[in-house]
Amino acid sequence: MNKCFLGIFCLVFTSGGSVRHQTQQEIWLTKAGQILEKKVEKEIGKPLSKWSIEVKNLSGTKIGLCIWYPFSGYKIYISPKLTESNKVLTVMLHELIHVGILNPRHGPKFRLLAIKLGIEDEPTYSIASQTLINEFFEMLKILGPYPVSEE
Ligand SMILES: [Zn+2]
Repeated sequence: MNKCFLGIFCLVFTSGGSVRHQTQQEIWLTKAGQILEKKVEKEIGKPLSKWSIEVKNLSGTKIGLCIWYPFSGYKIYISPKLTESNKVLTVMLHELIHVGILNPRHGPKFRLLAIKLGIEDEPTYSIASQTLINEFFEMLKILGPYPVSEE
């Protein structure tokens, strides 16, 4: 892992591109993200940058993370600790907001968009409002519940 020199939003640089099959969870998260990104795009008025998903253990208490890589675009990491459909959808939406605003911080721009999209105004921005949970309910009819880990 090398330090990246390309931008302040890029925390780490990896050569990336390692080919492996997506897990059932990652396939589900990709589908969910494709629905959720439309919500974000509607608010910001432009298409989202390229993103992909990986379920991976994260340091500390982190449950989601969004990192920009120069060649592959945004990578959204979701912790395998997350197992509940509504929670994982909330974290997915949170990370897509980072992609939307092109900023890893929870500044005023993030906060405004998060609240507009139905995320509660609290420090982690990982709690869904009742309105958002109702939207998730409709999404889950299409997606089915978040699959259990294969490991
Ligand atoms: Zn965040």
